[in-house]
Amino acid sequence: MTDGPSGPGPAGDERLILLLVGAVGAGKGTQADLLAEELGIPHLASGNLFRAAMAAGTPLGDDARAYMERGELVPDDTTIAMFMEELARPIAARGAILDGFPRTPRQATALDETLAAQGERIRRVIFIDVPTEVLVQRVAGRWICPACSTPYHEFKDPPLVPGRCDRDGTDLTQRDDDRPEVVRARLERQVPPMLEVVDHYERAGIVDRIDGQQTIETVTSEILARIGHAAVPE
Ligand SMILES: [Zn+2]
Repeated sequence: MTDGPSGPGPAGDERLILLLVGAVGAGKGTQADLLAEELGIPHLASGNLFRAAMAAGTPLGDDARAYMERGELVPDDTTIAMFMEELARPIAARGAILDGFPRTPRQATALDETLAAQGERIRRVIFIDVPTEVLVQRVAGRWICPACSTPYHEFKDPPLVPGRCDRDGTDLTQRDDDRPEVVRARLERQVPPMLEVVDHYERAGIVDRIDGQQTIETVTSEILARIGHAAVPE
């Protein structure tokens, strides 16, 4: 077995710590789950970590809850500690897929330093690249029936009669979060720091930029090909 395309680095038994980067609507969550399944490593999404830690009442979870209840951002140190706790679990012995953190270059530097302190690093950064206007179209195309909650998509899964639910004929509505102007505003906040995170890791030469406008299956197989399936230690 050959080492992955990660270039020179520590021994081949280094864990496969991946970072998945992509804006809302880029299919990041879907890909994370498919990759986790395929590679046999856990998908660690920051949102899920917060919820699980708070539900379990761990010290870090209580810490995070206190900040959230005050309407403050959870400090980077707390988030990083949560990821490190998960990475220390046996399920992550061969690696993990990080998702939702770091969101800024400063967070990326802090995470890099914490990993480096235990002789580790992010091996590859998978950037699922989708143009902003395509993302707006994807997300803003979502509609829902207020009566029976059936979801529709203007382009991918349209109702038989435009604007009406197939099951009960009710006028479809759009969640506030899915309105085009809201989606666009969210992306305008989200994308610039995300690209800075990608730049941060470009400097280390570990970014795989994947065209996210391909089918889900193609995106998955391209990612697997780029990181080299053999990169997961046995
Ligand atoms: Zn309906």
